Amino acid sequence: MKATILTIGNEILKGRTVNTNLAHIGRVLTYAGYEVFRALVVKDTLDDISWGIKSALSFSDFIVTSGGLGPTFDDMTVESISKALGIELEINGKAFAELETRYKERRLDFTEARMKMARLPKGADAIINPVGSAPGVMLRYEGKTILMLPGVPEEMKALLDIVLDKIKVPGRSYYEETATLQGIMESSLAPLIIREMKAGNGKIYIKSHPGLSETNERILEVEISSSDSTDMLAKENVKRAMENIRRDYRSYIGK
Ligand code: ATP
Ligand code: MG
Repeated sequence: MKATILTIGNEILKGRTVNTNLAHIGRVLTYAGYEVFRALVVKDTLDDISWGIKSALSFSDFIVTSGGLGPTFDDMTVESISKALGIELEINGKAFAELETRYKERRLDFTEARMKMARLPKGADAIINPVGSAPGVMLRYEGKTILMLPGVPEEMKALLDIVLDKIKVPGRSYYEETATLQGIMESSLAPLIIREMKAGNGKIYIKSHPGLSETNERILEVEISSSDSTDMLAKENVKRAMENIRRDYRSYIGK
């Protein structure tokens, strides 16, 4: 199942905000069984968001967006996606009731700007936001799913956690482990990576990440991951390759 992450916001493109939402969503979706296929970053304009959603829909089954769900003029995700897909906006009963209650409790007016957060695409599901105001939105479209999350990282994380069980890919499990080697060049490891990936019959993926240790020594992190039909199988695939690496490169590990 292919997933694309669409992060929305001028501040990300300008480098003012580091795109940590992309990293978090990518991690969660990978463990939920998706192949995170592409990520797009677009400005908060109607045209850019429309382009982003249409592109993402052309090559993926599941799209998660982040940003632009709030009450201000530059929060245009819901409107842009609805327009791009030709779906009308309507007041969502669940979102409306929740927002109305919350503003009443805080003795604040339920203004037009605030009401905007309850105006969702027809047929969409509102996901109540336990941390902030703007609800998340789950929309099914032509057999695909679009999940819209807020930009504020804590809100995004909380909402993703709420829907996690619903979005998990059935029969797909992911597992990964990392070994840290010292005193070995990346190029020396290349033949082993090829050997183990072949032995894994396309079910394992090995990636080496060169870096520096706390004491400034060159280290090589070897990440082995697998996606298979059960947790047990994915884990077994990784363990098998990891044992071989630990055996053949014993003298370079954990020094
Ligand atoms: P709000 O209701 O607060 O307006 P929103 O869904 O409209 O939320 P944005 O206005 O797009 O979200 O972003 C709110 C804040 O969240 C930004 O100022 C930024 O600091 C942070 N943020 C947005 N996108 C990201 C991202 N991709 N990674 C990390 N932080 C982000
Ligand atoms: Mg906003």
